[in-house]
Amino acid sequence: METYDALLAAITTATGDRRTLFNPSTGDPVGDAPVHNLEDLEDAVSAAIAAQPAWAALGHDARSAALLQAADAVERSAEELAQLLSREQGKPLNGPNARFEVGACAAWLRVAATTPLEPETLVDDGETRAELHYKPIGVVGAIGPWNWPMMITTWQIAPALRMGNAVVVKPSEYTPLSVMALVKVLNEELPAGMLTVVSGGREVGARLTEHPAVGKIMFTGSTATGKAIIRASAGTVKRLTLELGGNDAGIVLPDADPKAIAEDLFWGAFINTGQTCAALKRLYVHDDIYDAVCEELTQVARNMPMGDGLDENNVLGPLQNKAQYDVVANLVEAAKASGARVLVGGNPDPGQPGFFYPTTLVADIDNDNPLVAEEQFGPALPIIRYSTIDEAVEKANGLDVGLGASVWSPDLKTAREVAARIQAGTVWINRHGAVDPRIPFGGAKQSGYGLEFGAEGLKALGVPQIING
Ligand code: NAD
Repeated sequence: METYDALLAAITTATGDRRTLFNPSTGDPVGDAPVHNLEDLEDAVSAAIAAQPAWAALGHDARSAALLQAADAVERSAEELAQLLSREQGKPLNGPNARFEVGACAAWLRVAATTPLEPETLVDDGETRAELHYKPIGVVGAIGPWNWPMMITTWQIAPALRMGNAVVVKPSEYTPLSVMALVKVLNEELPAGMLTVVSGGREVGARLTEHPAVGKIMFTGSTATGKAIIRASAGTVKRLTLELGGNDAGIVLPDADPKAIAEDLFWGAFINTGQTCAALKRLYVHDDIYDAVCEELTQVARNMPMGDGLDENNVLGPLQNKAQYDVVANLVEAAKASGARVLVGGNPDPGQPGFFYPTTLVADIDNDNPLVAEEQFGPALPIIRYSTIDEAVEKANGLDVGLGASVWSPDLKTAREVAARIQAGTVWINRHGAVDPRIPFGGAKQSGYGLEFGAEGLKALGVPQIING
């Protein structure tokens, strides 16, 4: 274990092309990240090509052992990683935020290391024996967003490494230090060249997606960038896993208990201050309990402390960047102008340093309002009234994205029936966004394709090969 200062010194740079990252809570500088260029990318790909065959030859058991050691290394440096993540991303140390995210990295590494993946016998009838195996792809590119930078990078690299691939990581330009710190810690347990961060801008990501030596791109980010990656990868017929934007609906059925569900509804929407792909972003509530749900949610929202991520009391933080702050502020202003009713929040303090937007609940809002129809990706939840379940399901399915969704009711049979009618990759019942490293996760419609996590997630990082005979 090393100190926070030593970790920061190891990943920051005082010379060459560099960019200062600032704490979104305070505006204070965090550190200078290198700005890598296309030559640096070539070096990383060459190192990956050189290192990968020996790693693949180790076999599953030895690779799993290394990943378990990497998980231990993350835990040894957990507090330093969380401190850096909080400073750069803005998320508080406490609540389901920075310390939680670092813990998730260790958990995902362990599950990727220990999930069994045996060759499958498909046919064995005396005449034909056909087996399905998964071979390493070679070099995998991992391109990630800024909202959960360490955890999502782990989602991408842990299965890739387990399956015998080398990885070149391109972090978001908003959170390169977090990813570089995580990779530095992981590299304590990995052979040189297997895992390299190229901390560049979009052009580095774009080159990675068309690079002839890269066999697969793991991408998490916006739907617009996902479409650009599909186009860029066509020339080399790259494999892709695309985890893209979402606008998750939650449907509260008329028999739900507003008080009992309010806190879980709140965290379903406001985890990471709303900057979460599979967060609840549109809440549909039945007429009969609409007012009660609004009231209970408002009570919860008023009591959740928001502020500087390094203050141990806070559980909600700032938006990570000004552009995202503007998206949220503009959507709420448009909702207000349309006559929607603000239950709490909606009144940012222009004098406050940092990109803080207050926890905001908006009621009596039309389904076609932009705050409902667009991904707000921040702490502002629209609550829409409905009167029949058919109407709620139709509205939930009315968009061209479908990452997650949720149904809320004590009647699990009815809730499951409603869940089956929703067009989303995951539908949770009485909770929202509860991802689990053992359970596959992926999007429907324009939220992307390919599954992560569990055995399905491992298979996505291999090339299927049939041995027949
Ligand atoms: P983004 O698409 O702007 O950027 C993501 C990454 O792509 C960055 O590293 C960026 O540098 C890189 N990039 C940009 N242009 C590129 C190009 N042409 N080729 C290759 N790489 C390129 O996304 P963001 O703003 O960082 O993240 C927020 C979005 O991500 C939201 O829409 C959110 O819903 C989505 N998201 C989805 C999931 C999921 O699991 N489905 C998880 C987290 C975030």
